[in-house]
Amino acid sequence: MKPQVYNFCAGPAMLPTAVMAKAQAEFVNWQGKGVSVMEVSHRSKEYIAIAEKAERDIRELLNIPNNYQILFCQGGGRGQFAAAPLNLLGDKQSISYIETGEWSRAAIVEGKKFASAFVHKAMTRDSNGKVCVEDSSLWKTDPQAAYLHYCPNETIEGVAINEVPQTDLDLVADFSSTILSQPIDVSKFALIYAGAQKNIGPSGLAIAIVRDDLLNKAHIDTPSILNYTTLAGAGSMYNTPPTYSWYLAGLVFEWLKDLGGLEAVAKLNQAKAALLYDYIDSSSFYNNDVAPSNRSLMNVPFTLQNDSLDAEFLKQAEENGLVTLKGHRIVGGMRASIYNAMPIEGVQALVSFMQIFAKSHEVK
Ligand SMILES: *Cc1c(COP(=O)(O)O)cnc(C)c1O
Repeated sequence: MKPQVYNFCAGPAMLPTAVMAKAQAEFVNWQGKGVSVMEVSHRSKEYIAIAEKAERDIRELLNIPNNYQILFCQGGGRGQFAAAPLNLLGDKQSISYIETGEWSRAAIVEGKKFASAFVHKAMTRDSNGKVCVEDSSLWKTDPQAAYLHYCPNETIEGVAINEVPQTDLDLVADFSSTILSQPIDVSKFALIYAGAQKNIGPSGLAIAIVRDDLLNKAHIDTPSILNYTTLAGAGSMYNTPPTYSWYLAGLVFEWLKDLGGLEAVAKLNQAKAALLYDYIDSSSFYNNDVAPSNRSLMNVPFTLQNDSLDAEFLKQAEENGLVTLKGHRIVGGMRASIYNAMPIEGVQALVSFMQIFAKSHEVK
């Protein structure tokens, strides 16, 4: 028996228990064939059926219009930091980037290898001194840019941009840590991409959702495995794809459909996040520094009033089965990542622990 552990890791993150159990049950003997999914040809009709079903299911979940390709890519989220400019720049020279934290910054660093980057720093503080993102109507962009790139959920800082930005440019978004957590109006985007290890499946895989009219203009030097046109033409099987990760992603998509789709999933995510933020806000022992309108539903960073208790907090949390709560080294403190797979019971257990810890350490 596995001990009851709630894993709050930011990524690779926990996968749904039901998905893991199903994968385990079929691990060595998939569909009675006496082999693992991992051991069959990606060209076999059985595997193609898995791959196509996964694509159909994510199309249905995100309501992806027919004029968008869904690509199963390799190289994770960061691979797409290069793939996006290589594929979409065309004859343009510049990309407009919105900088809101570590991940959007990392995308800029990579993008600068291929284009000039017009960067707008959009982080500010509201009248209460909380961190927030400027309204998109205030963003400065380069009208000549090939596209506008932003990150709707900064995984490290726990900062989210919940509205689709207003812009005349083609919109490209790094949805790595928020894809499938709520519905998205895909038609507003030129390209959506996401590394898999937060809300899709195992690390290494990435999904790119790209509008058809953006194909056929990749830079001549684009490596074939990053070329959207090549991948689209080959059903994402230009080379041997990460077949087992693709299969697991498919199981996650089925699980999301069984939960009732993304409207239902969004409600669960809102309830989980509200539980945690409401408790943090009600306590003077813990603090979250982000303005409510920009709080992430997926990544909840918080600090203890007295940071000399951090190590003790993490130790006792772990003893209580609440693991990987340490914040990213850049921001310190704690971070609870509560992606789709985290059940509400995990958040309840965390809040109960936080209450007990605060009570026994509060300065009277
Ligand atoms: C995790 C993450 C990435 C990087 O993903 P890799 O698969 O490690 O390359 C990129 N962007 C965001 C927003 C992330 O959360």
